[in-house]
Amino acid sequence: MRTFREDVERAVSYHGHLCSGQCIGVKMARLGLKTLGLDPDVNPKTFMSLWNVTVVLLTRLES
Ligand SMILES: [Zn+2]
Repeated sequence: MRTFREDVERAVSYHGHLCSGQCIGVKMARLGLKTLGLDPDVNPKTFMSLWNVTVVLLTRLES
């Protein structure tokens, strides 16, 4: 299983920069996969989808 840091680095390369929304998004995505019993290494698209949803929700909450 990837570490939190590895997932953040992956999110940074996808998103383009490091921001607080990404750290929270990665934590929420990891928690979501764990809750659903899914392995992020086996389900990378599900991980990125959960991460995207969290970042979108956080962005809307901030505005
Ligand atoms: Zn950002």
